[in-house]
Amino acid sequence: MNEKMAGPVIRVKDLYKIYRIGENRVRALNGVDFTIEKGEFCCIVGTSGSGKSTLLNMLAGLEKPTKGEIVIAGEHIEKKSESQLVVFRQAHVGFIFQSYNLLPNMTALENVALPLTFQGVDKKTRQLRAAAMLKLVGLAKYLKHKPGQMSGGQQQRVGIARALVVEPEIIFADEPTGNLDSNTSLEVMQLIQKIVRKKNQTLVMVTHDNYLAGFGDRVIHIRDGKIIQIEDNRERNRETQEAEQSETMMPETGVPETEVPGMEVPGMEVSETEVPETEVPENETWKNEISGN
Ligand code: ADP
Repeated sequence: MNEKMAGPVIRVKDLYKIYRIGENRVRALNGVDFTIEKGEFCCIVGTSGSGKSTLLNMLAGLEKPTKGEIVIAGEHIEKKSESQLVVFRQAHVGFIFQSYNLLPNMTALENVALPLTFQGVDKKTRQLRAAAMLKLVGLAKYLKHKPGQMSGGQQQRVGIARALVVEPEIIFADEPTGNLDSNTSLEVMQLIQKIVRKKNQTLVMVTHDNYLAGFGDRVIHIRDGKIIQIEDNRERNRETQEAEQSETMMPETGVPETEVPGMEVPGMEVSETEVPETEVPENETWKNEISGN
């Protein structure tokens, strides 16, 4: 069967990762199986050392499994070379990190526009799409601010806008609210949830926080490298979503409802003089950071 035709967007089968340290072996992943459907918000939760980061690294192709299969968007990740993985990640995957990894000398707009440069998008469109995405995360007034001029929550919103501006099919988020206070964490979680739902994107989030994990459509509980429980919240989330559909504002965050940006964004004209050219760093440090290399 052609795996691109149908089925889950992520399929993990019999996955093991065994680290050897001298005589000792650590079973960071000890036989993990699960699937994630398109449009699902899946949380992977567990205490420190349970294997969450190892699992996310495997899914993102940042580490090779000892054994097992990872099929994402119909492609076997575990069989890909480093260069194939870079291409794959650029085509399918966005990352939201705990540390925002914004470039300090660039404005919010430039940071968000940067991934579009690697896709060969022209300057005008880059600026329009980055501005629209910043508007969507509630930062329309912060286009020209640099990371050091923004709060942690605002910087993470920029990080989210940067991850989502290329409209990735799948987003991997590693403790995205780990550096934020509890109120801001809640706002950022609601924002992420809202945006990926609108775009029917698939979000896989790793966290140690059971409360935040509860935002997920499904919550995969992991302990000692094994899945101990998969919690299904899809029915509950559907009901909440239906209730929210009548709302025009997000009262918790004060972020106005806006349409998810496409190529044309009415009222979001950004003039050449207002916004400086987005510079691409010569050493591609950013690109490596994003792909985790
Ligand atoms: P979590 O993200 O849930 O905190 P990790 O996936 O980082 O857990 O780690 C799972 C287990 O694997 C831990 O026992 C950790 O010490 C071990 N581990 C992780 N990475 C390595 C590594 N590179 N070398 C050896 N052991 C590792």
